[in-house]
Amino acid sequence: MYFCKVSVLFTDRFTYIDDCIEASNNPKDYKFYKMNKALKIYIAGHKGMVGSAIWRALEKKGYTNLMGKTSKELDLKKQQAVLDFFKDEKPAVVIDAAAKVGGILANSSFPYQFLMENMQIQNNLIDGAFQSGIEKFIFLGSSCIYPKLAPQPLKEAYLLTDSLEPTNEWYAVAKITGVKACQAIRKQFEKDYVSLMPTNLYGYFDNFDLKSSHVLPAMLRKFHEAKNNGNANVTLWGSGTPMREFLFVDDMAEAVVFALENKLPEYLYNLGSGKDITIKELAELIQKVTGHKGTIVWDSEKPDGTPRKLMDVSKMKDIGWEYSTELEKGIEKTYNWFLENIESIKETKM
Ligand code: NDP
Repeated sequence: MYFCKVSVLFTDRFTYIDDCIEASNNPKDYKFYKMNKALKIYIAGHKGMVGSAIWRALEKKGYTNLMGKTSKELDLKKQQAVLDFFKDEKPAVVIDAAAKVGGILANSSFPYQFLMENMQIQNNLIDGAFQSGIEKFIFLGSSCIYPKLAPQPLKEAYLLTDSLEPTNEWYAVAKITGVKACQAIRKQFEKDYVSLMPTNLYGYFDNFDLKSSHVLPAMLRKFHEAKNNGNANVTLWGSGTPMREFLFVDDMAEAVVFALENKLPEYLYNLGSGKDITIKELAELIQKVTGHKGTIVWDSEKPDGTPRKLMDVSKMKDIGWEYSTELEKGIEKTYNWFLENIESIKETKM
């Protein structure tokens, strides 16, 4: 049995169907919105890997009123500038994919910037949106918010149950304050502010710079270059035994669209495939996709990192979202994109 009451919230900006809930204990029961495709949606960080994927997914779904600003056009660290921007533009929804991101080296060299700049960016966005009466906010974080030694797979309930991984705790603490700020607004003012935590992402517009890239794009570039170099050996760090989970960035973007179009019942959700593979298996998959015929050498003198990092994605699955791109397919798509864009990638990041 369904009870549906159509209502119009805050002028003409956000028409939605409220109270459309099946009267049962089915976990799939949650409020959903009937979205107005002309809704003004601001994507903070729209030129980044994550933000640009969200932009593409929204365009594909027919959303016509998307907006974004580069950091040069709007420095999100500046509170008054963000408030003025919200006042002038009046977006109905904010999606926060803007952050100062970096690897272990950058995090440990610049702890203050990773803590403070990320808190400034997200505080200005979250509080600015709240002060401006924006009803819907989607905050993107990452799996590093969970304790270093939390049981696997990582459940949302493990947040703040133990110590963080010291190498990126500055970034993680900032992200946790973002999750908590959205939760507090949701709890105290009943606004639809929700946080999504993706696992390791890969795909179009990834960073292929070997000094700062994540494991998957770094391997992709190494195998590609070794193939072009007479199928030279590829040397990789560690034993190859750690296990990691990966999600194609366009699948993550579909999850963000899902979170936009539905009022998710809880404040925090993991995004992932729910499946992990060893680094060795990943290397073999990338070797196959790139067509490299040489030998893989494992440099076991180098550190392995955390043995396993897998998200529990059952909460998202229970309410209706699941990944769709298998890893091999996603790597093929990413490699084709890499080949098509190699010249511009070289200019910016290689
Ligand atoms: P990118 O570095 O590709 O993009 C970051 C974006 O943030 C850029 O568009 C940048 O704009 C913007 N930005 C940074 N500082 C400012 C500022 N002061 N003012 C305005 N804009 C700013 O990062 P990703 O897309 O990879 O990551 C985005 C989010 O997704 C982060 O929260 C991250 O934690 C999360 N995430 C990413 C994962 C991954 O594997 N990549 C995995 C899990 C989560 P500009 O270029 O104009 O400076």
